[in-house]
Parts: sequence; C-alpha cells; structure tokens
Amino acid sequence: MNTPLVEMDGDEMTRVIWAMVKELLVEPFVELKTDYYDLGLKHRESTKDAVTGEAAEAIKSLGVGVKCATITPNDERVTEYGLSEMYKSPNGTIRAILDGTVFRAPILAGGIVPYIPTWTKPITIARHAYGDIYKNVERRAGEGAKAELLVTEADGSEARLPIHGFGGSAGVVQGVHNTDASIESFARACMGFALDTNQDLWFGTKDTISKTYDRRFRDIFQEVYDAEYKESFEQAGIEYFYTLIDDIVARVVRSDGGFIWACKNYDGDVMSDMVATAYGSLAMMSSVLVSPRGYYEYEAAHGTVQKHYYKYMDGETTSTNSVATIYAWAGALGKRGELDGIAELRDFGKKLERACVKTIEDGVMTGDLYALSRLETKRKVDTETFIREVAARV
Ligand code: NAP
Ligand code: MG
Repeated sequence: MNTPLVEMDGDEMTRVIWAMVKELLVEPFVELKTDYYDLGLKHRESTKDAVTGEAAEAIKSLGVGVKCATITPNDERVTEYGLSEMYKSPNGTIRAILDGTVFRAPILAGGIVPYIPTWTKPITIARHAYGDIYKNVERRAGEGAKAELLVTEADGSEARLPIHGFGGSAGVVQGVHNTDASIESFARACMGFALDTNQDLWFGTKDTISKTYDRRFRDIFQEVYDAEYKESFEQAGIEYFYTLIDDIVARVVRSDGGFIWACKNYDGDVMSDMVATAYGSLAMMSSVLVSPRGYYEYEAAHGTVQKHYYKYMDGETTSTNSVATIYAWAGALGKRGELDGIAELRDFGKKLERACVKTIEDGVMTGDLYALSRLETKRKVDTETFIREVAARV
C-alpha cells in the first residue's frame, strides 16, 4: 500500500472480531498501512469524543476509511462506562462531516434463500443521511393551543402558515427541514453509484401529498439527472426511474432485485431493516458511505453484538458472524487499490469477498446462518474458526 487507510476501531464483540480479521485475513496478505483511530467508547470518553471528528477529518484527507461498529451511548451505557456526557452516535457525527449517502447491499450466498424468493439479485438501499425527522423540532401542544409555521427570509419578510388549532384536544407538533444542497449531493451520490455499479436507480417520495417538501426531492433529482447524468446513463444502458413511494414498494416486492433504491432518510432507515431481514440477516449486509466529494467509509451495518460479547467475556464460545466486518475491510482495501492504481490490492478485496461466500457455500458458517441455510451438509463453527476458514480459502 502507498496511502494509509483510515482505520476506526470500535466496541464489544465487533472489536474482538476486528482484531481477528486484521490478524488472520488482512496482515498475512497485505502490506497494511493504516492511520488508526480508536472509536471504542473508553477512548471516546478520554478524548471527550474529539477522536470521532479527527477520524472523519482523516477520511477527508486520505479518502478511504474502514469503521468497526461502535456503541451509541444511552442511559445504561453512561452508567456502564462512567461517561461524563451522552455522546452522539459516531456514525451520525462522521456522516454530518462527510455529508454522505449510505449504500447498503445484501451479501448473497448459496443455501441462504431470501424470504422473498424472487429476490435473486441484491437490492441496494441508498439512504439520504441528512435532515427530515432526524433533525426535527417537536413539542406537545396543549388544549386550545395554536400552532403555526413561521419562515423569516433573509430580507426579514415573514411567511406564517397555520398548522392546527388544538381546540378540543391537546396534541403534538413537529417541524422538519432539508436543504437543496444536501438533496443535490444525495442525488449525485446515488447517480454516481448507479454508474459505478452499473445498476438502475429507483426513487420514490410522497409528492402527491407533500406538494412542496417531497416535490423538492423529486424536482432536484430530475434536474441533476437531466443536467449531469442522462447521457452517461444512456451510454451505460441503465435507467433512472421515479414513481410514488407506495408504487416503488409494490414494485420492489415483485422485482428480482439488481437495482439501487434511493430512499429519503426515514424510508431508508425503515426499509433497510426490511430488506436486510428479507435477505437473511443484518450480518449479511455491506455498507458504505459515499460522499459527493469522493470520500468512502466502509462499515458493517449491524451493531456491536452486545449479548455475544458478554458471553465471550464469560469465557463461553461465541458464533458471531464476521462477514459484514470482513466486507468492510474488503471494500476499503479494494477502493484504496482502485484509487491508487494497485491492481493486486483491488483484486484482493474481491478475493476476500469471494472467500467469505465460498466458505458459507461449502457449508461452514456461524450460528445465525446455520439456522437459515438450506444446505444438506452444514457445520456451525465459532467466531474465530469461521475467520480461519475464510483465510484458508483466500
Ligand atoms: P446488534 O449489535 O446489531 O445486535 C442485535 C442482535 O442481532 C444480536 O443480539 C444478534 O442476535 C443479532 N446480530 C447482530 N449482528 C450479528 C452478527 N454479526 N452475528 C450474529 N448475530 C448478530 O444490536 P444491539 O445489540 O441492539 O446493539 C448493540 C450496540 O450496537 C448498541 O450499543 C448500539 O448503539 C450499537 N449499534 C451500532 C451500530 C454501528 O456502529 N453501525 C449500529 C447499530 C447499533 P442474537 O442475540 O439472537 O444472536
Ligand atoms: Mg433502522
């Protein structure tokens, strides 16, 4: 390697897996160079979370990062780790700094049959990672309250729109926003990724009901498409397709996969869990954050697998699925190779991915997949054995 990879370590069971993957699957094959950041909760605490921002800045200067799953603190974690503050989700912090779009795709392996059997190709979900209810302002409104939407323009002019008069019953109100700039970069990230991976792009919103807000998403996508991508899409033989979100959902269920589904923030949050589950498991999803300026951050889509970690700490045998973590390394190393023109490194990423799938198709798998696999001959192995079996196939 020439340029180092930004390496972001994490928490609990995935931290254990992280070390194993590096030792058994990466270091024996790659002259690895990394710029290491420890995003484990203990170190976030000792740096007052500065380390998270530093890691994101490093991705900006080096271009490619790989991230382990991390704990997002809640009340229990504040007690468990003696935190001085309830730090925000590191993923959220990094996304906000990189202004990215998250692409999640299921990892298919023979023997693991999706709950929707026609889904023979992966469905990649592209989630807009900014705004909407994730940056909302909301409050209770008492009986008799009056809620209005007030927008003050830069010149001081005001627009005041009634939301609701809470005559006979108290209730709730919320305000949400998005920006043209963020929607534009979302559109570009999706269209760029569609070209990169040679897949159709589907997008749907509720613009029949939300005639200004959701309509803005639709219009911006169309403008960006017409001005910047139409020709390349036509040359590549791929399609940009817009319809209502309801219609998209119906078409997705009837489809055989093999496209990118661009989702507004909330749709992406919900639908990515649905898609992951339908394909088998959250541990069989690859996830990459792509920024419009060409930064890439690869990660596993699942959490730190806390329950398995407590077993591991008690000395019990665990059978935790490392495929998503291995794919994160594979994706990051492969992208580094591609950007630096190192063909062997780019190919190594692919080899690592194929070795994972081959292992599972050979009937060697962790407990979560053992319960799903329809192979006649299959063997449930522990966390480390699975990684060693993958290494043997690389
Ligand atoms: P989780 O770590 O995703 O695990 C939930 C359950 O899903 C596990 O108990 C396990 O089920 C199954 N599972 C998930 N990943 C698996 C894997 N690789 N192999 C086998 N089974 C797997 O979610 P959580 O326990 O709710 O959250 C734990 C911590 O992760 C939280 O502190 C949360 O903040 C954090 N989190 C981080 C990220 C991220 O950094 N990207 C994302 C989500 C959550 P069984 O117990 O039935 O085996
Ligand atoms: Mg979700």
